[in-house]
Amino acid sequence: MKEGIHPEHVKSVVTCACGESFETFSTVPAQRVDICSKCHPFFTGRQKLIDTGGRVDKFKKRLERK
Ligand SMILES: [Zn+2]
Repeated sequence: MKEGIHPEHVKSVVTCACGESFETFSTVPAQRVDICSKCHPFFTGRQKLIDTGGRVDKFKKRLERK
């Protein structure tokens, strides 16, 4: 590896919106994420609806009307 051309990697604390935090290495000392391996439905196996613009609410209302 050549010296001086790679960004310096430091220990970085990643804090997720669900409250989970973990350490990794990054070029920034701290960062925030919206979703992590603890709360992502792919890893939890649970269905977590990520509502974009109230589309889920509209769907629920449509079901109630029937
Ligand atoms: Zn999370």
